[in-house]
Amino acid sequence: MVPTGMAELLEFVCEDCSALIEVNPEMRDVLLQEGCVVCGMPVDESEFR
Ligand SMILES: [Zn+2]
Repeated sequence: MVPTGMAELLEFVCEDCSALIEVNPEMRDVLLQEGCVVCGMPVDESEFR
């Protein structure tokens, strides 16, 4: 892991619980596999922006 200043961040907005979480690409992959960290519902790519 090399610090690169501003990491690439995505906004995840859960369609089920409306949680808004800033994530990096690694976290995005985790959410897609594990589901929303707040409500546990499955996460779709369309919920990232
Ligand atoms: Zn949720």
